[in-house]
Amino acid sequence: MIFGHLGVASALASRSRGPTGSVTFLALLLAAMTPDVVDTGYFLASFCSPYGLYSHTLYIVALEAGVVGGIALLVTGSRAMAVMFSLVVLLHAPADYFTGYKLTLPGGDLHGLDLYRKPWLDLMLELPTIAVGWWLLRRSGRGPAWARSPYSVILVLALQIGFDGIAVAAGVQKPSGCSDARPAGQPVALVARRRVRHVSEVP
Ligand SMILES: [Zn+2]
Repeated sequence: MIFGHLGVASALASRSRGPTGSVTFLALLLAAMTPDVVDTGYFLASFCSPYGLYSHTLYIVALEAGVVGGIALLVTGSRAMAVMFSLVVLLHAPADYFTGYKLTLPGGDLHGLDLYRKPWLDLMLELPTIAVGWWLLRRSGRGPAWARSPYSVILVLALQIGFDGIAVAAGVQKPSGCSDARPAGQPVALVARRRVRHVSEVP
């Protein structure tokens, strides 16, 4: 899941009793993407974390939730805020189950419905998640005004449509430090065929 995580974060913010101004809300959106942020860090460091081993497995997500919740507690001094930030990190894992195909436990099997391989289905899951999250936030009156604006949800929906459109047209690859990463949206066999063709094109 990509932008659907923002819908999950918005839904949680709609239930928040604490302040959710712009800074808190943006931090919550970022926290919702924590495992992907960690993956991006691995990519930048050229460190291979195959199938989310060091970013998306349950132990690591629990650790990330603890760290993010701890930071939220230190910064805000509010236990309710710490719980909300931890929860938004934990909810990343079940949301990704639908769209990804990753390790759940180190050394375990790969799990997930892998909807990235079927971008239309990914779109049918992510768009309602984004829209419902935004609607809950708007209805609650919480969060910053810009986040409740229809323009915000239109922008995020458009970004998701663009992402899945690129996945259909060209295949997209999540940043990965592993050299044999499989482009999302493409079955393994297609990648294998492309590699074979590429090799055969070498003079
Ligand atoms: Zn993820």
